[in-house]
Amino acid sequence: MKILVVNAGSSSLKYQLFDMETEKALAKGNCERIGIDGVLTHKRPGKEDYKTSAPFPDHRAAIEYVLKILTDKTLGVIGSVEEIAAVGHRFAHGGERLKTSSVLGDEEIAYLESIVELNPLHGPPAISGFKACKAVMPRANHVGVFDTSYYSDLGEYAYIYPVPYELYEKYKIRRYGFHGTSHRYVAGKAAELLGRKDAKIITCHLGNGSSLSAIVGGKVVDTSMGLTPLEGVLMGTRSGDVDPAVLEYIMDNTGMDIHQMLNCLNKKSGFVGLSCSSDMRDVKAAAAKGDEQAQAALDVWTYRIQKYIGAYNVAVGGADAIVFTAGIGENDCEACAHVIEGLSFMGVKIDPAKNTRE
Ligand code: ADP
Repeated sequence: MKILVVNAGSSSLKYQLFDMETEKALAKGNCERIGIDGVLTHKRPGKEDYKTSAPFPDHRAAIEYVLKILTDKTLGVIGSVEEIAAVGHRFAHGGERLKTSSVLGDEEIAYLESIVELNPLHGPPAISGFKACKAVMPRANHVGVFDTSYYSDLGEYAYIYPVPYELYEKYKIRRYGFHGTSHRYVAGKAAELLGRKDAKIITCHLGNGSSLSAIVGGKVVDTSMGLTPLEGVLMGTRSGDVDPAVLEYIMDNTGMDIHQMLNCLNKKSGFVGLSCSSDMRDVKAAAAKGDEQAQAALDVWTYRIQKYIGAYNVAVGGADAIVFTAGIGENDCEACAHVIEGLSFMGVKIDPAKNTRE
């Protein structure tokens, strides 16, 4: 049986095709810079990587291209899409109802559509990615895996907002947390490498969307995203934490309504708000050419991550490991080193020789 795993992020679509008999990946890849221009990297074990530019105006175009590549005579690994028996879709928000991985029927999709405003950046691409896959692979089983599942046991001390309690009771206004599958996986891997099941770990998922989690003995004790993925550190287009009173002040001064305001915080803030682009590589290239605003954006990014790591060092009671993952965390050794440089007070130092991509 072949299973395709699809992760439609805000600016990327990652995929991996598994042969479940061997439990090995046959191919994996990433469509990046969706909505900007479009780059596809397609990898197969033991073969040279294939990289190409292709216009990806939206996630639907990206998934269609991926299926074309997977079945291509030269680059592909399967004869036809019919071979894909099931598709696993990553969804950021499962809300109150979808707490564990679930087969996605009309009812589940209608529910996910009804809570899309809780997750305006990832929800729409994930739903359209699902619909595109469903249209091309109608006979396959489609299963949703939810980031929020990982946080369903989070303690009340961490998930309650200090606002009137009835808002939680009536409307389930609470912190849900996101990127759970990623935090769970990398924390497990780190604990395995450390050879310690009780390890205290801070995981930093730093991509276009970014979040940190504090984990003790495999159990998550805090995380930086909240009711929606807007809370936390500075991201590609999201502001992360801001004083809520700023909203009223901006709205009074600009005439924006609340929807425009939230659109601004979700889509026009973070790197793209402070600098020239939502993409770390563009921001760094601009800073390297002397663009002071781009450098300032990088400084805010670094500082806000350091503050969360400091706080989570308290949450876990002294971390054994700090883990970096996602687009920036995996690839940008220099950015991670800058974060670490500010943490020497915690006894953390970086080994420059080991901190390379290889
Ligand atoms: P998403 O939240 O859309 O899934 P990703 O995890 O793919 O995002 O991360 C996208 C971010 O990772 C972008 O800011 C991009 O610049 C950065 N990134 C990806 N590859 C590299 C690289 N090789 N070097 C530096 N930054 C990278």
